Amino acid sequence: MIEEILPDLFRIKIPLPKSPLKYLNSYVIRAPERNMIIDTGLNRKECLEAMLDGLRELEVDLKKTDLFITHLHADHFGLVSKLVTDGTKTYFNRPDTEIIEAFGGWEPMLEYAGLMGFPRDELRNALDSHPGFKFKSEWIPELSILSDNDTVKVGDFLFKCIETRGHTRGHTCLYEASKKIFVAGDHILNDITPNIQCWSDQENPLGDYLASLDKVRDLEVDLVLPGHRRLFRNHRERIEELEGHHSRRIQEVLKILKGGPQNAYQVASKMTWDIAIESWDLFPLAQKWFATGEAISHLRYLEETRAIARETGEETTLFFLNQA
Ligand SMILES: [Zn+2]
Repeated sequence: MIEEILPDLFRIKIPLPKSPLKYLNSYVIRAPERNMIIDTGLNRKECLEAMLDGLRELEVDLKKTDLFITHLHADHFGLVSKLVTDGTKTYFNRPDTEIIEAFGGWEPMLEYAGLMGFPRDELRNALDSHPGFKFKSEWIPELSILSDNDTVKVGDFLFKCIETRGHTRGHTCLYEASKKIFVAGDHILNDITPNIQCWSDQENPLGDYLASLDKVRDLEVDLVLPGHRRLFRNHRERIEELEGHHSRRIQEVLKILKGGPQNAYQVASKMTWDIAIESWDLFPLAQKWFATGEAISHLRYLEETRAIARETGEETTLFFLNQA
């Protein structure tokens, strides 16, 4: 479960039961003054046990430990409320903090999903099966806000914050220049593609994400420490693959819209998904939800480039190809 990556830098694998992500990588940096844990796991028993077992083995005392959370998703933030003690600093970014603070319930998101064509009678069940809903932190501690380029020193490690908007609005990575390590959160993953979902017309997460891939391309990196799955090298190669993936997706969406105006849910049902289930109808509800969010991020991106436009009706929003 525990692996030493560099002297005083460890990974604890936190299991994510029933999730295709399999586990979250929590990184622990041991230092004489204060330790730091990067990302935590879902707020559920299996995650907490794995975390506490790991910390015990590393002899890391939570009273002398700070937290850094890459973004607001529950598999990263969820356990925070179980780990903070009186003196804990919980480092986090401003844009995701604003999302948490402005959160007025899930209704606007459900309403939006309905307009995007998600079957209205299934919305409530989709929400109930959403891990972000079930396993979120029950309260939010005081947060120490860090911005792009701010630094955090932990023992021998001097981490620089790199804001990488896309996967969430404030997603933030850490870069250690002298050791050439890049703590990627869910910005760059190996084996799987970070999901880029959109649930608001005010945003263009895919556009942001592609810009954020560009932003980290030129860093000198020996080792990427991702939020899930395997550690890897060659981050530039992986960035190229991810860019290729999204440009194929964009082409696929354009091709689907050649069939006529459609809502986002219909588009999602026709896209190819890397999931071992044969037909869209058999997809679990949570997967349909993620897929629809992904389809919307590609549609919003195409809308911003003016390749497509929309017509908003009472019941649903239809997207169609713009005539050149
Ligand atoms: Zn994640």
